[in-house]
Amino acid sequence: MKYKSYTLYNYREIKQLRNLSEQEMFDIEVVGHVLPFKTNNYVVDQLIDWDNYKDDPMFILNFPQRGMLPDEAYNNMADAIKRGASRSELSRIAADIRFHLNPHPAGQSTQNIPRLNGELMRGMQHKYNETVLFFPTQGQTCHAYCTFCFRWPQFVKMDELKFAMNQGELLVEYIRSKPEITDVLFTGGDPMTMKASVFKTYIDLLLEADLPNLKTIRIGTKSLSFWPYRYITDNDAGEMLGVFQKIVDSGLHLAIMAHFNHHVELKTDIVKEAVSRIRKTGAIIRTQSPILRHINDRSSVWREMWQNQVELGMVPYYMFLARNTGAISYFSIPIVSALDIFRNAYSQISGICRTVRGPIMSSNPGKVLVSGITEINGSKLFVLSFVQGRDATWVKKPFFGEYDKNAVWLDDLKPAFDENYFFYQKEMEGICVN
Ligand SMILES: *Cc1c(COP(=O)(O)O)cnc(C)c1O
Ligand code: SF4
Repeated sequence: MKYKSYTLYNYREIKQLRNLSEQEMFDIEVVGHVLPFKTNNYVVDQLIDWDNYKDDPMFILNFPQRGMLPDEAYNNMADAIKRGASRSELSRIAADIRFHLNPHPAGQSTQNIPRLNGELMRGMQHKYNETVLFFPTQGQTCHAYCTFCFRWPQFVKMDELKFAMNQGELLVEYIRSKPEITDVLFTGGDPMTMKASVFKTYIDLLLEADLPNLKTIRIGTKSLSFWPYRYITDNDAGEMLGVFQKIVDSGLHLAIMAHFNHHVELKTDIVKEAVSRIRKTGAIIRTQSPILRHINDRSSVWREMWQNQVELGMVPYYMFLARNTGAISYFSIPIVSALDIFRNAYSQISGICRTVRGPIMSSNPGKVLVSGITEINGSKLFVLSFVQGRDATWVKKPFFGEYDKNAVWLDDLKPAFDENYFFYQKEMEGICVN
């Protein structure tokens, strides 16, 4: 397979390489000052269809679009750039716009940070009993950035909000102190942007600690879509696969939580080769994605994506609704549409692919599954349930929301039967003191 070097592009380079109009380039520049922008030669050369780029899902996934900012925000930034405002002024305007884009949905920055011996563990989140999230400092970037990403505050230098720590020892100690934890999920950014030697340091600490409760190591990554060369031609590709092998050989389950948004990402020779190499280590690749307007809001896309994933030996896991953050109004679709797309795709695939669950809202109280729409005593209702809850006793108890064809997120839903609260809301008040 041809060697590919890793090239970072900025918009000035793109302008020289691709025939975007002046206005398109300017839009990318304006929006890119607010939402992070980063692409690379794999995405540009192999994923984006430049003959139809305006509607191309990979282009929209990776390149900032005019519609992603409200008009007022767009105009403020555009005017500042046109009058040659200083870098510090541009940063100030960007920070102000970001502040209004709900950078920390689902109480991420305050409510899920665990304590060890009274001290806040800034590089971890622990919300659901079994799984602790770990944000290794060295993995807080990605091979390219998704325009819809809810982790975007981590990439745009809001340093005080950046959850990161470099101490694997604290991670080990924390897992030891919480016997209910079975899974540690390395996340970011993208932990696969770390050097293999750095990742190995964390893994060795975990393996040497021989924690009796730890059963699964998970890695949340988009490297298979944005940079499959990670497992093939990167200098330390073999070393990374060696670390995977070591985890599996130690008897732990290694789950690669791969992020794919579209079947286009599954078609290149290089991604197929990367999947095959990872699977040979004994790791299981599970897949997840949000459902996004302009990118994958058709059931045929999901049907084909899930089928392709299973063909390549991966296991479909979650379909999420787009989180209420960043350019949400550009990407979000009503819950009813997501449900329709899910059901349509799900009903046309083999049971082998029906491991997938969705549509799910990963919200402050927990992961809420929209099971369907029903009618009780003449009123139309959403049937909802927790797949994961802040309180484990909430899981798998059906509850009902009033049907609303415009609702896009849990906050938009009203409890059914004229109740004032959903059943978990009273308990939430008690939980959310940190
Ligand atoms: C989704 C998520 C997890 C993992 O949940 P699973 O259902 O076990 O995959 C863990 N922690 C947080 C905060 C999450 O959002
Ligand atoms: S790869 Fe994941 S963390 Fe990185 S920009 Fe995309 S969604 Fe965000």
